[in-house]
Amino acid sequence: MSFICNEIRKNISIIEALEEYTTVDLSKSRIEKQHFNIRCPFHLDKSPSLTINTDTNSWYCWAGCGYGDIINHVSKAMNISNKLAIKLLAYDLGISNFNTQRIDIRQKAVKDFNIYCKDITENLKRKEYSLREIVANITTTTELEEIGEVYHDIAKLMYLSSLFKSDSIEDKIYAAKKTREITSHVNFKY
Ligand SMILES: [Zn+2]
Repeated sequence: MSFICNEIRKNISIIEALEEYTTVDLSKSRIEKQHFNIRCPFHLDKSPSLTINTDTNSWYCWAGCGYGDIINHVSKAMNISNKLAIKLLAYDLGISNFNTQRIDIRQKAVKDFNIYCKDITENLKRKEYSLREIVANITTTTELEEIGEVYHDIAKLMYLSSLFKSDSIEDKIYAAKKTREITSHVNFKY
């Protein structure tokens, strides 16, 4: 595997990997610099706390999401294993010295990602139903005031579920990212 990993690192830069495999917006970033910061796609990031090093093609999140190279960034962004990320990158970059066993690696990665998205959508639905149940069981205005936030949370969950309905993989990557952002705020204690 290490030969393939080295080939991958030689054939794609961290900038290209970010543009190709993540929803990170680099339009306002100073990508010509050796170091620059972007908003981390792995946590709700108000101020840019993910440092990109274009010299070593590595990344580091100062808020604790991790650090690493192109390969583990792609695996984290697509929520696939490192092994599958290596296969996907090798396949996409046409690194031929690699036995793909005639499997369409991209298709496998997309399939795994779609299963992950389906799991999230089911989870969101379950949460939505449990919140609706709370609303349905309100009997006093005091109770209503106490759990008024629930209405907002239901709206957020419905919004996230609707994002996952798209057929485009890019839209789903965006939906997964949004879900990570928003569910860190939705109150799931009920
Ligand atoms: Zn982070």
